[in-house]
Amino acid sequence: MQLSPCTLCPRNCKTDRNAGINGFCSLSNELKIFCTNLHFGEEPPISGTKGSGTVFFSGCNLKCIYCQNFAFSQRNSGEIFSTQKLADKMLELQNRGAHNINWVTPTPQLPYAVEALKIARDNGLTIPLVYNCGGYESTEILKLLDGIVDIYLPDAKYFHNETAEEFSFAKNYPEINRAALKEMYRQVGALKTDKNGIAEKGMIIRHLVLPNNVSGTREILSFIANELGTDVPISLMHQYFPTHLAVGHPTIGRKITWEEYHTALEWFDEFGFDSAFVQEWE
Ligand code: SF4
Repeated sequence: MQLSPCTLCPRNCKTDRNAGINGFCSLSNELKIFCTNLHFGEEPPISGTKGSGTVFFSGCNLKCIYCQNFAFSQRNSGEIFSTQKLADKMLELQNRGAHNINWVTPTPQLPYAVEALKIARDNGLTIPLVYNCGGYESTEILKLLDGIVDIYLPDAKYFHNETAEEFSFAKNYPEINRAALKEMYRQVGALKTDKNGIAEKGMIIRHLVLPNNVSGTREILSFIANELGTDVPISLMHQYFPTHLAVGHPTIGRKITWEEYHTALEWFDEFGFDSAFVQEWE
């Protein structure tokens, strides 16, 4: 996996990161981590009862104007780690009882992440690896992860190019995302859990319902049902609130309404999916 010129993600910046130059993702040639911790807010098969061993990587290859994590995804907060230190942190999370290691937005730092994983595996890390990402992934790079990743947890953010460009500066997100989801499904299939309902292998696709249906919810659900299968669990999220550059935005400057979420649930039923993770409306 090459950092110079960098082609780790579909941006294809071709930035010379080994020379210390930052790419679109705000990263150069150092491993940067925002934090590691047990996380209990993921879907039940991921968080379980003991928590998901989460590694929040700094930087991101998307620049969503509503990102809740913009402090470390776009403003590059974080701490420089060695690969040995990251390996030690992952082993520590396992020792604290984590059901899995959950890499959040690892793509721009994959060479370091994979190196750290190898060190950790060689030293007793046995729990599954979750690849938790924005879904803007190169199929070629994903193929290199075949056999390394146990569980994919990608977003499917947009179906339409105009909205992908307007809200995440990634016009080709829809085509790239659809190809990436297919490759992930090819590698791991639908979700498999142990007798306690904890994920062992497979995928869950996350979809954040945005105001005024700018995310193209029905079309995304149709694609997943028809091209992957109705056995793929969907996490249908209504937690959106305007933050960062979305505050006061004319289209997405508000939370979604109950009617918007209810409509999304009706579309989910229309396509006959086997299972969903649906958030309670409060
Ligand atoms: S990982 Fe970063 S530097 Fe590399 S292609 Fe993607 S955005 Fe550009």
